Amino acid sequence: MRKPIIAGNWKMYKSFEEACQFVEAVREQIPSEDKVDAVICAPTLYLPTLVDIASETDLAIGAQNMHYENEGAFTGEISPSQLSSINVDYVILGHSERREYFNETDEAVNKKVAAALLAGIVPIICCGETLEERESGNTEQKVSGQIKAALNGFSAEEVEHMVIAYEPIWAIGTGKTATADDANQVCGAIRQVVEELFGKDCAEKIRIQYGGSVKPENIEELLSKEHIDGALVGGASLQVESYLALVTKA
Ligand code: PGA
Repeated sequence: MRKPIIAGNWKMYKSFEEACQFVEAVREQIPSEDKVDAVICAPTLYLPTLVDIASETDLAIGAQNMHYENEGAFTGEISPSQLSSINVDYVILGHSERREYFNETDEAVNKKVAAALLAGIVPIICCGETLEERESGNTEQKVSGQIKAALNGFSAEEVEHMVIAYEPIWAIGTGKTATADDANQVCGAIRQVVEELFGKDCAEKIRIQYGGSVKPENIEELLSKEHIDGALVGGASLQVESYLALVTKA
C-alpha cells in the first residue's frame, strides 16, 4: 500500500513570524511518519529556519521551486544543492502558476526533476489541464504529455520515489474541486502512463496526489479512491487547524 502524502503549498503567503508560529504549533501534532508523509512547502526565505524548527519531528519541509543548475550566474535563483545543503526534503516542480507566470516549460521541469534527484530532494511534479482543455476533452492528452516530458530519461528505480500532483488548473484556488471520481480517473490515467513507460511495479509504487481546493471536508472522499495517494493543498494548508485536520484524516 502507498503511504499518503499531504503537502501544503504556502505560495507567497505568511510573514516570517507567522510561518515560524505555524510550524511550532503543528510540529508535535503531526501523525507518525509511518502513517502519512506531512510536508509544508514554504517560501524559500524561511526554509532554513523552518527546517530547524521541524527537525526531529514528523513534519518535512519543502521548497516551491528551484533552478536546475547547481551554481552559476543566475541572479535571484536558488539551486538544488543549496536546498539540499539546508536539508530540504521536497520540492514542488512545474506548478501551473510557474508554468503560466514564469514561462516554465516541460523541458525545464524535466531538467529540474533530474537536478532534484541528484541533490537527493523528492520532486513533487505538477500537471493539470485548463478548463478549456477539459471542456474540449483533452484532459488526459494534456496531462500525459506533461508527465511523459517530466519523466523523460529516468529509470523505474528513480521514478518510483517521485511524487506526481494532478492539479486541474480550474480547480486551484477557486473552491471548485474535481469530483473524486473525475480526479481518480485522471490519476489512474497518469498511473497508466507510468506503467507503459516504467512497468507495473513502478506504477504501483509512485504516489499521485490530487490538488485543487482540497479541504478537510473533501479529503477523505478523495483519498478513498484507488489512484489518489495524497493531496497538494494551497489555501487550506495556511491555517493550523485545517492543515492538522488534513494530515490527521489522511
Ligand atoms: P488550492 O491550491 O488548494 O488553494 O486550490 C492548490 C495548489 O495550487 O497547489
